[in-house]
Order: sequence, then structure tokens, then C-alpha cells
Amino acid sequence: LVSRTWHPEDSVVDVDGVKIGGEEIVVMAGPCSVESIEQLREAAKAVKAGGAQFLRGGAFKPRTSPYDFQGLAEEGLKMLRQVADEEGLKVVTEIVDKDDIELVGKYADVYQVGARNMQNFQLLKALGHAKKPVMLKRGLSATISEWLNAAEYIMAGGNEQVIFCERGIRTYETFTRNTLDLSAVAAIKELSHLPIIVDPSHGTGRWQMVKPMARAAVAAGCDGLIIEVHPHPEVALSDGDQSLTPKNFDRLMEDLGKIAEVM
Ligand code: PEP
Ligand code: MN
Repeated sequence: LVSRTWHPEDSVVDVDGVKIGGEEIVVMAGPCSVESIEQLREAAKAVKAGGAQFLRGGAFKPRTSPYDFQGLAEEGLKMLRQVADEEGLKVVTEIVDKDDIELVGKYADVYQVGARNMQNFQLLKALGHAKKPVMLKRGLSATISEWLNAAEYIMAGGNEQVIFCERGIRTYETFTRNTLDLSAVAAIKELSHLPIIVDPSHGTGRWQMVKPMARAAVAAGCDGLIIEVHPHPEVALSDGDQSLTPKNFDRLMEDLGKIAEVM
């Protein structure tokens, strides 16, 4: 079902009027974690002003260490919905457990499956019956074929609204957090009709590299970007090193306009 052989034309995932996979580059932006209503509101105002269509933010955080901040759970989901509605943004947020589909679906417009859950087949099967789109991140060391199969799990259940998200893979390089594989954009476009967006924040782990990699991702033909933006990255509870300030997010958005013009 994910294959372009079955479905030669590009698929568009329509999130209440915001089309992912159409003409426009869709931008999802916001903090790594929802920390407080003040932090989230400041971030949402900034990303809206910069031109994003979606507010991102994690309420269930799959942290590497169990002692790190784990997220605000439903309280965080409520904040996301409230602040996104205030600003006229859609919500994308991570789901980590199949038993949370109803809960997360109550507040989110798009379910995010994180890299660590790309092969959580019970979760994928359950999302196959969900009524909202799923953004499927590439696994930490997943091949393109494994990633396509993960999407197939969702589509096989009847949910055709799947968006791929390249977020970097593990290599021998340590300067960057991950190695952003922009060739995945071309590979997915060749093999599948589904849209693909790129996450240069997790893909590099370094805020200095987010703008150049976002530009490259757009030039490579992605359908959108997901970018971490924090009003005060130096005090972020997660991923401050890769989060853009509102000012740097504005600069990135200005640049994207220029790239789109020459394409
Ligand atoms: C995130 O988007 O905050 C996240 C945890 O990303 P990933 O699953 O790609 O590591
Ligand atoms: Mn993050």
C-alpha cells in the first residue's frame, strides 16, 4: 500500500485544510518538550509569527535516561491544544503507547511515532485503526525498507494518512547527534507516494546546523520540516542544544522562502 507502484501519484495528507505533500512546504515547530503554559505560549507565538502551520511539543517523552524529564502527559496535551487554538496552529505530538490513542487523539491533529517506536508493531497496528494522520519517524538505525514496512503496518489497518519523517540515523560520526540522511527524501519519493518531512533538529543535534540542513532538505524535495524552537534554549528541559531561538527560527523561515523561489 505504501508503494508507488500501487499508487503512482503523490498522496496528500490533508489536516483540516493544511495539505502535507502538496505545493507548499509545511512547517511544524515548537519545543522538544511541553514544559509550562508560559513556555509553550511564547514558543507558539514565535512559530506562528515565523509562518509555521503546526505546533510541535512532546508530552510523553521517550528519554534515554529514566531520570530525565519524562513529560507532562495529559496536562501537556491540554496545553498544546489550548495554545495551538489561541494561535491558529495544528498540533503534532508523540504517542508512545497503544493504550493512549484515544487520549492523544483528543488533543492532537497528527500522531507522532518517534524513532524509538518505529518498530513498535502493536502501536503501529493500533494507529492503523485511528482516525487521524500519523507522522512516522525513521528508526534510530532503520533501513529504508524497514521504514516502509512500518508504514505498511499502519496502512494495512486502513489508515492511509501517513507522513514519513527523516530524523537522522546512527553512524560512526560523533560530531553530530545523528547523521541526517537526505538521500532518504529521494529514496522515499522514488519508492512511495506518501509525503516526507525532515527533522534537522534531531538529525544534527546542533542548532547551528539546523538552518543549512533545512535549506538542503527543501532543495532535496521534502514536503515539510519539523524544527525545535524554544524561547530560552539555555534552560530547556530537553534538547536545548538543538533548539532555535525565535529569532533564528525567523531567519530560517526567511531563507526557506528564497529557496522555494528558485525551485
Ligand atoms: C522528538 O521529536 O522530540 C523526538 C523524541 O524525536 P525522535 O523520536 O526523532 O528522537
Ligand atoms: Mn527533541
